[in-house]
Amino acid sequence: MAPIKPSTHLANVRYDIRGALTRRARDLEAEGRPIIKLNIGNPARYGFDTPAHLREAIAAHLGDSEGYGHEQGLEEARAAIAEQQRARGARGVEVERIFIGNGVSELIDISLRALLQTGDEVLLPSPDYPLWSAATILNGGTPRYYRCLPENGHLPDPAEIEALVTPRTRALVLINPNNPTGAVYPRELLEQLVAIAARHRLLLLCDEIYDEILYDDAVFQPLAEVAGEVPCVSFGGLSKVHRACGYRIGWMSLSGDPARTAEYRDALQLLAALRLCANATAQWAVLPALQSAPTIHALTAPGGRLHEARRAVIEGVAASDYLQLVAPEGALYAFPAVRADRLPVFDDSDFALRLLERESVLMVPGTSFNVPSSRQFRLTLLPPPHDLREVFVRIERALAQMAAE
Ligand code: PLP
Repeated sequence: MAPIKPSTHLANVRYDIRGALTRRARDLEAEGRPIIKLNIGNPARYGFDTPAHLREAIAAHLGDSEGYGHEQGLEEARAAIAEQQRARGARGVEVERIFIGNGVSELIDISLRALLQTGDEVLLPSPDYPLWSAATILNGGTPRYYRCLPENGHLPDPAEIEALVTPRTRALVLINPNNPTGAVYPRELLEQLVAIAARHRLLLLCDEIYDEILYDDAVFQPLAEVAGEVPCVSFGGLSKVHRACGYRIGWMSLSGDPARTAEYRDALQLLAALRLCANATAQWAVLPALQSAPTIHALTAPGGRLHEARRAVIEGVAASDYLQLVAPEGALYAFPAVRADRLPVFDDSDFALRLLERESVLMVPGTSFNVPSSRQFRLTLLPPPHDLREVFVRIERALAQMAAE
């Protein structure tokens, strides 16, 4: 019998964060081996609770959210999101330009599906959050990567981005604060990127899901404010800042000149209608989430668990003979590099496998984030700080063994 063949559209699509390495870790765990997992940004798995007032809001509405809701999302929730965006300086944002989805993940797909013709190009960061590449490819687009190199603090070079623009380029994607690097983009850089979008009539797509997760003196600058009348879609959600990944609630806000974005808005609404609505019950958590100060600040402030986890990583790298790191300024990850002067021959995928097999540590190699070759790997800041300190003991042991071979 002929096998059922999957679509060739998937040929270049990958999502290694839940890939073969993760499956191998599951098998090892099933055999009884404890694994320290640093691969997924899922706060609930590491003992971070969703704030009680979000849970209570959902519980209070269990009985009256059993039907389908509006395709763009609960009116009260969209009003709160529009208010947040206007307070951040976004122009032209009304409830009809807000879309609530089953996580930012669904909205990334919808935003690109509504935009792209086959062969259109999308400017993406390298490294990226790999769903952005996958959704570009699955919607017929071609990723064009701009580099965010550690020697430049993981910030992009506007001249490099502009040199990549062709007549087929439709959108410029930014992730700020960044996954996987932890970079937070300064306002002057965003101004330059908006100017590029304006010159070449590109749509700005800005993934701001980590907007409130900042360390030390880092300042988050919403892109929509800088963009002004330039069309911009800003993405946010409950998964990270509000530690509620499982509720599957994210949103996107369309800002800028309404005349230029009216048709695109209608296309977004059509796609939203095709999938009926986002989880109606969980949308009740949006209003309380946005109406009070984000509780994540207690975790990122000195003494807070994320702050201490980040410190454990910075200290682990400082004590290492092999590693270097651009300290993350935001988000939930660190993206250290193995120094070429200490270990000239290095393959990040081999290293990740070795770390899992020999040291029972699961992390994600840099090449999983759409970089052609990498001396880097991504750790999450979610495990307890003492686990992270133990991780660095094991990483150092593995690297010393590799150096001795
Ligand atoms: N965007 C970025 C940059 C992410 O890191 C993630 C999840 O890790 C998502 C989007 C997906 O978020 P959601 O849970 O809202 O689908």
